[in-house]
Amino acid sequence: MALADLCLHKAPIRSKWYTIMTKGSPVFDYIAYLALIALTGGIDSPLFPIGYLIILHASVYWKFTGALITSVLLMLGYSGVFVIQGAFDLETVTYFISQLVFLFLVGFIGGLIVSRERQHFLDKSVLEGIANRDFLTNLLNHRSFQEHLKKAYEQKNKFYLVLADVDKFKQVNDKYGHVVGDQVLQRIATILEETVSAKFGNAFRYGGEEFALILYNEEAVVKAILSEMKDKIAAEQFIVEIGSFSVTMSFGCIKHKEETPLELIEEADKLLYTAKEQGRNRIVFQDEKEQVTQLCI
Ligand code: GH3
Ligand code: MG
Ligand code: MG
Repeated sequence: MALADLCLHKAPIRSKWYTIMTKGSPVFDYIAYLALIALTGGIDSPLFPIGYLIILHASVYWKFTGALITSVLLMLGYSGVFVIQGAFDLETVTYFISQLVFLFLVGFIGGLIVSRERQHFLDKSVLEGIANRDFLTNLLNHRSFQEHLKKAYEQKNKFYLVLADVDKFKQVNDKYGHVVGDQVLQRIATILEETVSAKFGNAFRYGGEEFALILYNEEAVVKAILSEMKDKIAAEQFIVEIGSFSVTMSFGCIKHKEETPLELIEEADKLLYTAKEQGRNRIVFQDEKEQVTQLCI
């Protein structure tokens, strides 16, 4: 058990060892438990109730079936201890049977409760997903954007707001159809999320073919993230029957200062508009001193 715990704490989450130890620990617990029972008074051991914890532990990882199987295994192990102990008088046998019934009941009822809670948790996360995520791209949606922006203000964090818009996207729909257009939006969303997530920020679908980013980073990092995004999007090739095509994106980025959220969005929108006016496929960036620069890296 100690070895399993050590591995659990030392192994990185989601590594192979972590998974093996998480799922395998009820087995280690089982073996250790039976040894403990045998060494501390056999079927009368005061440590008997630890078996309930093992069943609950198993039910968390292996659900209802896991709880039942663990109960039955514990009942078998406990029976083994009983047989080895060899006290078959009426009082001991009655006590032994009542303990077996308890083990089974804990597996059954505990398994039911844990399964119900897991289902409840699943339903809750599905509902949260529906409320906060955009159906087409699975990015955080506009409502979530407004909430994140409000939170960023409340926490008085320094952050950058970015509004981004796909260039000449109407032409993509007109030329290749809306289904292809949707696929382009999905791919762009994935690129945005992949580029942002590792670097502390969030990507949102603002609406239509417009996206927003809230980035909690230093200026140099923000610039690097945006350049990477812009280049990755431009480099992406979309395959269609008549060949392939690519799209570009324009960005307006502003550092949050004293203005209200609405004013900040308007400012970012103006910068995006400037990017469009100046030829698209570019980033227009406004720093703390209100200096506007164009990033063409
Ligand atoms: P600009 O470079 O000035 O942004 O040009 P644009 O063509 O991208 O701009 P415009 O606003 O004229 O067109 C946006 C298009 O985006 C029009 C709309 O049909 C399309 N669009 C918005 N949402 C979706 C969507 O969910 N799926 C698809 N396929 N198209 C969408
Ligand atoms: Mg637009
Ligand atoms: Mg557009």
